[in-house]
Amino acid sequence: MSAGTTWFADLILPLPLPELFTYGVPVEMKDNLVPGMRVVVQFGRQKVFAALVYECHNRPPEKYAVKEILSVLDDFPVVTDSQFRLWKWISDYYLCSMGEVMAAALPSALRLQSESIITRNPEFDGDTSVLTDREYLVFEALEMQQELRLKDISKILSLKHVLPVLRSMLNKRLIRVREEVEEKYKPRMIDVVSLNVNEFPEEKLGKLLDSLEKRAAKQLDLVMAVLQFTREEEVEEIPKSQLLKRSGSTAAALNALVRKGVLKVKKRQEDRIAAYTGSLIEPLVLNPYQEQSLKETKFAFEQGKVTLLHGVTSSGKTELYIHLIRDSLNQGKQVLYLLPEIALTTQLIGRLQKHFGDRLLVYHSRFNEQERVEVWNKLLEDNLNTEGRGRLVIGARSAVLLPLQKLGLVIVDEEHDHSYKQEDPAPRYNARDAAIVMAAQQDAAVLLGTATPSMESYFNALSGKYDLVTLDRRHADLEMPDVALVDMRDARKRKQLSGHFSHALLEELKGVLKEGQQAIIFQNRRGFAPYLECNTCAWTPVCNNCDVSLTYHKFKNELRCHYCGFMQGVPARCVQCGDQDIRMRGYGTERIEEELQSMLPGTRIARLDYDTTRSKSGYRDIITSFEEGEIDVLVGTQMVTKGLDFDRVQLVGILNADSILHYPEFRAHERGFQLLAQVSGRAGRRKHGKVLIQSHQVDNPVLAFVLRHAYKDFYMHELNERYKFFYPPYCRLIEIRLKHKDEKRIDKLSGELTLELKKMFAKRVLGPTIPYVSRVRNLYQRHLLIKLEKTLSISEVKKSLQLALAAFKQKPENRQLIIQVDVDPL
Ligand code: ADP
Ligand code: ZN
Ligand code: ZN
Repeated sequence: MSAGTTWFADLILPLPLPELFTYGVPVEMKDNLVPGMRVVVQFGRQKVFAALVYECHNRPPEKYAVKEILSVLDDFPVVTDSQFRLWKWISDYYLCSMGEVMAAALPSALRLQSESIITRNPEFDGDTSVLTDREYLVFEALEMQQELRLKDISKILSLKHVLPVLRSMLNKRLIRVREEVEEKYKPRMIDVVSLNVNEFPEEKLGKLLDSLEKRAAKQLDLVMAVLQFTREEEVEEIPKSQLLKRSGSTAAALNALVRKGVLKVKKRQEDRIAAYTGSLIEPLVLNPYQEQSLKETKFAFEQGKVTLLHGVTSSGKTELYIHLIRDSLNQGKQVLYLLPEIALTTQLIGRLQKHFGDRLLVYHSRFNEQERVEVWNKLLEDNLNTEGRGRLVIGARSAVLLPLQKLGLVIVDEEHDHSYKQEDPAPRYNARDAAIVMAAQQDAAVLLGTATPSMESYFNALSGKYDLVTLDRRHADLEMPDVALVDMRDARKRKQLSGHFSHALLEELKGVLKEGQQAIIFQNRRGFAPYLECNTCAWTPVCNNCDVSLTYHKFKNELRCHYCGFMQGVPARCVQCGDQDIRMRGYGTERIEEELQSMLPGTRIARLDYDTTRSKSGYRDIITSFEEGEIDVLVGTQMVTKGLDFDRVQLVGILNADSILHYPEFRAHERGFQLLAQVSGRAGRRKHGKVLIQSHQVDNPVLAFVLRHAYKDFYMHELNERYKFFYPPYCRLIEIRLKHKDEKRIDKLSGELTLELKKMFAKRVLGPTIPYVSRVRNLYQRHLLIKLEKTLSISEVKKSLQLALAAFKQKPENRQLIIQVDVDPL
């Protein structure tokens, strides 16, 4: 520590350590250093990190001697005060470190853990007489190489610890340190096609078209499509992929035209955040029910209350949002529109772009790092900009962590959706709840929208904590679809089954197809992964690292573990008995698609699931072809349930409701109702539609509520169950997940920890239990659950819990134990 330090900065380091670290601020940095900037510091003996300044102050730490900050990376803060306030809340509420929140928030191109790169400081005035010999060597090397890593410098100097040299050079302002950016900025290039007007002026073109008409129809289509597009859009170039799709022509035809010199193809840099150039449209005129709901919502906003909009599917919630967003933007405010990841569709983005043009920013996990940084930087610019054009940011969970600080409105669409909660790694936050806190911190309005509210939100709404606005009619007085059950036991008895389809469903399907309408077949993802089984001894291939059977992927003919990614080929014979008769069990969407294809030959079927949509365009392509009527039946998992709006879907078939409802967790019924109601909602969005639910247990009470579209009755029924067994919304839950590579140890330790916690929380501690999958990645797992009355001070409880867990982990014999805390688990 240098003698004169009186200024300090608390830093967030990119490490899973609970506390912040205090470093000294060199006098020459003091005036320019503010929270939110990144700085370079040494941590431990060897490591150099970039860290984030959280607070600047003049209180020397008591426990340790401070090191000094080596250099400052930013000229202005990359993280705002309002972000810090939210991060702090997340860290306190979800019992995680600021470093973990930072890691979740910062795009890795801004993140602070990669290797440092040393460059020359261009502002250095050139007087090399101040340099020591070593420094001169480095300086010279930098002249030749532009940038060096620490290990290069080590080599040049034949010195192990080069930091003191670098530090001195930093002090003399000879060099700069910057972060290695994982993914270097690479502009994305696309092929664009244009007419070669120099070679083919108008009259020559006319002749060409005549000749093509007779001999080359595909080529003619292409040229016509180029002409039409360039005229309509008032542009000169059309992206090649778009052209081929639009014209229905082929790449071969295109190449022929290029050879003739009619068309030109060149590369163009595609804007990552594609600028919207079309004209903007006015919001639709609301129907009287929507009008009423809008009025109620605005009134609730004035009261400063979180508003829950309970609107049935297709009631026009999105139209309401559009009105509210407009109001907020017109006041120069920012709007955050959160959606579950898979509901973030091109469909919706396109719809919003027509209203808000380039004020709309999208933040997507399918974006690459550079695209994320661009959104981040745009928002930072917004914050500096006082003239106040509003901004709409639409994104999934992590968008709540963006640098928004002029927030006027937060919309959480599909608020019940479980993907708002991050499971792993920490921070295990719920973006819906974080968004509510964020809005409160910035005095912004909050609208939670859904057709199937979570138990918690509806409870809050009925108890007056939130305001409830109900929109229970579909737009244009369209009726809710007819929902009917198919009793699969009965169908089996009567031999009215073909594969996994009841004849009732098949007949219905054929009828729909005959009318030229479309259908969606839903297969629950859970519990239906196909696996292999020996037909003789029932042996099943299992994962080496986890306690689960391997999932069979037919497409690649391989077995994969869905928990750890372990992969292996399909065995030729049974490992246990040597028999070769190994069969596939369970049925995934792939199998359903195949079955359907063989029963309904000629039908155009596509599959929407994790496998078919892994690429960014996979999802979009499938949705688009379904929209454009190139597909008759869409077979899909959960992905088909979210916010899709298709005109011609007359029928939704749910293959197996039981798998959804019979899941051993207290939220199974809630989840099941939501899922079934949401899938049903995809039917008949323009014309009265139908839903068929196949089930082996048709007397399950939840199904009756689904048939009647009776959310509120379902809620009352379920609430009663929650009351009886003391579950949320009547209590709060904290789950403690323990992991250890030794099974005996984990049994012992989880027992000990339970006793320890019972001293504090008595009967509120339940467990330890063995989770459904008891071993993952070679770690055995045990769970404890703490149930807390809502009258307890939750922050007190968390403090004591955190201390107790830290003390337990501190014991030398417990070092190998991994403890994860999940507050409000889902
Ligand atoms: P939700 O979000 O509740 O499922 P949407 O906002 O997507 O419902 O509306 C369903 C369909 O009805 C959409 O195609 C939408 O354009 C149309 N729609 C909703 N409200 C109106 C309105 N007031 N005027 C015209 N069309 C509307
Ligand atoms: Zn066998
Ligand atoms: Zn595994």
